[in-house]
Amino acid sequence: MYQNRLNIPSTNQPRVVVIGGGFGGMQLIKSLYNSKVQLVLFDKHNYHTFQPLLYQVATAGLEPDAIAAPLRRILEECPDFYFRMAEVNHIHPEKNTISTTLGELDYDYLVIANGSKTNYFGNKSIQANSFPLKQIPQALDLRSHMLQNFEKAVLESDQEEQEALKNIVIVGGGPTGIEVAGALGELKKHVLPRDYPELDLKNMRIYLIEATSRLLGTMSEHASKKASQYLQHFEVQLILNKLVKHYDGKKVTLEDGTTLSSKVLIWAAGVKGNIIDGLRPEAIQNSRILVDAYNRVQGYEDIFAIGDVAAMVSEQHPKGHPMVAPVAIEQGKLLAKNLIRMVEEGKQLQPFKYIDKGSLATIGRNRAVVDFPGGIRFGGFFAWLIWMFVHLFSITGFRNKLVILANWIWNYFTYDRGTRLIIRPYIKFDHEEVERE
Ligand SMILES: Cc1cc2nc3c(=O)[nH]c(=O)nc-3n(C[C@H](O)[C@H](O)[C@H](O)COP(=O)(O)OP(=O)(O)OC[C@H]3O[C@@H](n4cnc5c(N)ncnc54)[C@H](O)[C@@H]3O)c2cc1C
Repeated sequence: MYQNRLNIPSTNQPRVVVIGGGFGGMQLIKSLYNSKVQLVLFDKHNYHTFQPLLYQVATAGLEPDAIAAPLRRILEECPDFYFRMAEVNHIHPEKNTISTTLGELDYDYLVIANGSKTNYFGNKSIQANSFPLKQIPQALDLRSHMLQNFEKAVLESDQEEQEALKNIVIVGGGPTGIEVAGALGELKKHVLPRDYPELDLKNMRIYLIEATSRLLGTMSEHASKKASQYLQHFEVQLILNKLVKHYDGKKVTLEDGTTLSSKVLIWAAGVKGNIIDGLRPEAIQNSRILVDAYNRVQGYEDIFAIGDVAAMVSEQHPKGHPMVAPVAIEQGKLLAKNLIRMVEEGKQLQPFKYIDKGSLATIGRNRAVVDFPGGIRFGGFFAWLIWMFVHLFSITGFRNKLVILANWIWNYFTYDRGTRLIIRPYIKFDHEEVERE
């Protein structure tokens, strides 16, 4: 027997509904493979996104399909598994159901794994006019917009207008901000001069603005210093200790009144949990869902949250764990084990313990910084090799690994970026503000 438009068969097994096929949700489902539950996954996209390489799509280093994998294919070997491409917009804990854009479904266990969205800290002008980097369509918009600006710059006779078209401002000195800045610095140095010989690129400016006193605030001082040094190699201009106050699409205004002229502002300054309506307000803190050591949402027995959206507050992690992929993957793995213990074995649950394996960030070719546990810190070529190995190892699917490796080898030896294509021209629509998350 099938239930409403969603066409999910009724079952005698407990139904586990998962919201989000990101790092956490996908790992959870893979780890529940062959267990005695019915699995239903909802995602608003039909693919999984490998977000750590989004910046390479935005800067013409990779095609989007190299960092995406169809959810149905990844999970095709799971029996009693159903995927529905739909957005979940409400949770009804009182009747154990969720509402989606395709209809309502009841659950025995609900796992919220829908990640995070861009945080504009309430600044409407930035939300309306900047480019976030959280999803593949956003990376493609940014790539098209930057290339369209260069095409316009070639035709522009007004010097000020031409500079605004060439300049790029990045806000946020975390790993995403510095990786984008490094990749753009490389484009400026090696690719754009060949593509646009008519343009004077010496006066093209790439600014990286960070509100605190150093880059890579979550990594060591050593990593911060190295990252600043590497960015200078690519002529990226660092502006520290400054907040951006306003952006109208042409001019960036800092809190001290300084203005920078640029038609591209890349917003990499923060994310916040993706909160779906319906949970009790006490379960939400600082835009994340409060969970106990078993990832159970505060105040509920059968609702769990994992990954970016979940905050497991402890003495060691007073604000919850860092919003990174390994946390989501580890939580997905353990929650699957705990669900099996609950449903099949009636055993006690195991608490989550995060083992931090270290942090990495790359800044253009041959340069990266690494912080490993035990105070092992270094930067340079070897760190860059480690960065490449870790990312290649982590990306889903053999085809994607092969495509990315081939692209990297090509880009490395030719100093080229084969994907600087305006396939889907960027056009700004008025309704876009709400979607820029
Ligand atoms: C540009 C960038 C670079 C990053 N680089 C790194 C890095 O180098 N290393 C690292 O460890 N981490 C990195 N991160 C962070 C990492 O990507 C996240 O921590 C990780 O993706 C969190 O996993 P998750 O499962 O919680 O959510 P996600 O992987 O974000 O998955 C959430 C899923 O939920 C879906 N979804 C959202 N809302 C709904 C809804 N209402 N209904 C249905 N589906 C929904 C989304 O489509 C998505 O598929 C980066 C993030 C970004 C944005």
